[in-house]
Amino acid sequence: MKIKTRFAPSPTGYLHVGGARTALYSWLFARHMGGEFVLRIEDTDLERSTQEAIDAIMDGMNWLNLDWDEGPYYQTKRFDRYNAVIDQMLVNDTAYKCYCSKERLEALREQQMADGEKPRYDGHCRDSHEHHSHDEPHVVRFRNPQGGSVIFNDLIRGPIEFSNLELDDLIIRRTDGAPTYNFCVVIDDWDMEISHVIRGEDHINNTPRQINILKALGAPVPEYAHVSMILGDDGKKLSKRHGAVGVMQYRDDGYLPEALLNYLVRLGWSHGDQEIFSIDEMKEFFSLDAINKSASAFNTEKLQWLNHHYINNMPAEYVATYLLWHVEQLGIETRNGPQLFEIVKLLGERCKTLKEMAQSCRYFYEDFAEFDADAAKKHLRPVARQPLEAVRAKLAAITDWTAENVHDAIQGTADELGVGMGKVGMPLRVAVTGAGQSPGMDVTVHAIGQSRTLSRIDKALSFIAEREAQQ
Ligand code: GLU
Repeated sequence: MKIKTRFAPSPTGYLHVGGARTALYSWLFARHMGGEFVLRIEDTDLERSTQEAIDAIMDGMNWLNLDWDEGPYYQTKRFDRYNAVIDQMLVNDTAYKCYCSKERLEALREQQMADGEKPRYDGHCRDSHEHHSHDEPHVVRFRNPQGGSVIFNDLIRGPIEFSNLELDDLIIRRTDGAPTYNFCVVIDDWDMEISHVIRGEDHINNTPRQINILKALGAPVPEYAHVSMILGDDGKKLSKRHGAVGVMQYRDDGYLPEALLNYLVRLGWSHGDQEIFSIDEMKEFFSLDAINKSASAFNTEKLQWLNHHYINNMPAEYVATYLLWHVEQLGIETRNGPQLFEIVKLLGERCKTLKEMAQSCRYFYEDFAEFDADAAKKHLRPVARQPLEAVRAKLAAITDWTAENVHDAIQGTADELGVGMGKVGMPLRVAVTGAGQSPGMDVTVHAIGQSRTLSRIDKALSFIAEREAQQ
């Protein structure tokens, strides 16, 4: 059997983490099985679907590198096909026209509620022989089987059974002639030869209806796998409150796509106790039966831990391509300074996100207006003048600007003055970075460059001189 899966988002908002995880599972299953993956935009709800949301979904899929083999298909472009099938169903009598007025349906509903029954269509027009003129408003309903039940074997949850008595005759075409959502999904899954429908558990109730329609059409019934919900770390349904925003927000917040994918794949799926998965490993090990039936809780700390791992373990040149976007957002001009992959190597260990990294790399490229007040108060004191002057002289004398020579200059200064490295290193750190924290002094000073380093030491010396004058 040819394996084909699909991701079928409704473009009514951004691609959120739940949707991205469903897309990832469908994609991984197709890739694992050597099958195909289809992207389908379910834009039948004209009022709620927007081009902006379509763009956001595409951006998210592209950023996550979830490539598709077919599509994107748009349901709004397939209305003729859906209507042709509905017309054929009317001929075959697997569907019928329903002329019930709004008022009748409303009254029926109220009566059923008053009787404590679940509101459902009573099949009034199902076998009616009333005469109606051609242009009288009507909907088309699917003739759902009246007895028996629909059973399907959910690949995550096991067998699920729905009695047909629970299912009324679904409207498949509205009065305005538009086919309805559940019907379009069925025709698409059929036409696109989808073998496995992997989707959120909120669609479980649609499945028996869709299976009945597929059967009435003589179409093959795909396998179904319904993925559980994602909850916030407080056990409540994931929402914006938890920071559960669109996938692109994670890009903006400084996450690598590999980290988010690794996080999402483990959010409800496991392979032994392995936590870190390369994309190739995900493809190799993924299976539907290892997906968890229960809901999973989102945990930002774990995502950050993974991001830190990927920042430090992927090639620095690759990470730098993502860092570039962040430094550009901050308006940092990186041409006159170290290459960005060096920044990744220098700052990776101390950063959980690329946003943080971009925010802390400014001093490599730009002079700062002021020293951090606390750091300056502590380290740019009169006693620091001598070590700073001495280290400046040694740094100025370097003809081959390497981290090693910078190291020797700092070490040599401390040795000559008979003081610990900290007495030289800390004032130097504040002088050249403006603050009290940075990676190792030798690599930092080296990356900042010789002339910038010297002029910043001069600035620190003036600062100390002013301070001395005030005393
Ligand atoms: N369009 C549906 C949604 O965004 C998905 C339908 C399906 O996967 O069958 O929730």
